[in-house]
Amino acid sequence: MEIKIERAKTLKIKPDQNHLGFGQYFTDHMFIMDWDKDIGWHDARIVPYGPIAMDPATMVLHYAQETFEGLKAYRNPQGQILLFRPEMNARRMINSNKRICMAELPEEMFVEAVEALVKYEQDWIPTAPDTSLYIRPFMYASQPGVGVHPANSYRFIIILSPVGAYYPEGVNPVKIWVEDEYVRAVKGGTGFTKCGGNYAASIAAQVKAEQNGYTQVLWLDGVHRRYVEEVGTMNVMFLINDTVVTAALEGSVLPGVTRDSIIHILKDMGYKVEERDLSIDELMEAGRTGQLKEAWGTGTAAVISPIGELCYKGEKITIHDFKTGPLTQKLYDTLTGIQWGRLEDPYHWTKVIK
Ligand SMILES: *Cc1c(COP(=O)(O)O)cnc(C)c1O
Repeated sequence: MEIKIERAKTLKIKPDQNHLGFGQYFTDHMFIMDWDKDIGWHDARIVPYGPIAMDPATMVLHYAQETFEGLKAYRNPQGQILLFRPEMNARRMINSNKRICMAELPEEMFVEAVEALVKYEQDWIPTAPDTSLYIRPFMYASQPGVGVHPANSYRFIIILSPVGAYYPEGVNPVKIWVEDEYVRAVKGGTGFTKCGGNYAASIAAQVKAEQNGYTQVLWLDGVHRRYVEEVGTMNVMFLINDTVVTAALEGSVLPGVTRDSIIHILKDMGYKVEERDLSIDELMEAGRTGQLKEAWGTGTAAVISPIGELCYKGEKITIHDFKTGPLTQKLYDTLTGIQWGRLEDPYHWTKVIK
């Protein structure tokens, strides 16, 4: 892939690495590539970060034909740049795009574009503890026209944001509101894709949870409002007695890269992992009887997020005394150790950008 480069005339002053927050600062450049029905992908370019002009009739603005990804670049102690399983993000974007009838970007081109931009912007990769460079690739229908059908043109963009720990207070348990009115996804819908529309539909429940004093929602399945699916924009796992239970990937749950990685690590640690239907009744009963030992969410942004409390129809259950459990902590340390290159990577998940 030939990538043209237009360098920014002035470079930004970099933010303080100890107060990065999440997704607030963006680097000097972005990657853009266009797709047209007649010629396919063309005009790969790295250009100064900035606004993109759009015709008001651009299809994405009306029908939300948009997909995105999220991954991170890390600096290891030797100063090398690492990516974590970027091919998984590339493949997931292909699956998302297939579902909503968008052009597909081949896996090698996705990874090459990510690597090229990250390398070009490498001075932006922070080095303070728990910091990384968040990578946000996304694609949208760029054709103007009002009418619901696949577009003749799509645009793929990558932007980069230096980020700190997702929760600045560190890895602390959060309170979760079990949502029994709004639903996120149904089988046959788009729950397994990272398409923008899913997140638009989820905001009302998030607002409701916050109004009730909770950090996130636990989503139940969209048909029975009974089976546990995800927590906010993370996959969710429960340690019940000595078995880890998480929802199976059957169309309504997002196939998280972190979820997959943690399942591998758990199995290698000797844990039994069950990917199955877990009803909220079974979960609450396990909480009441003390069999629910730990619970956590998994996702690229926060990595592992311990759950300290669940509230379902007014009943509250506290998990592990509202403290981070030993398994949750061990998983966090193991996975972040591999991602930041502090621990050996027996899985060959990290990829050094040369
Ligand atoms: C992105 C996302 C996840 C986590 O996926 P990772 O690849 O682990 O970051 C889980 N659930 C939803 C709804 C998501 O959007």
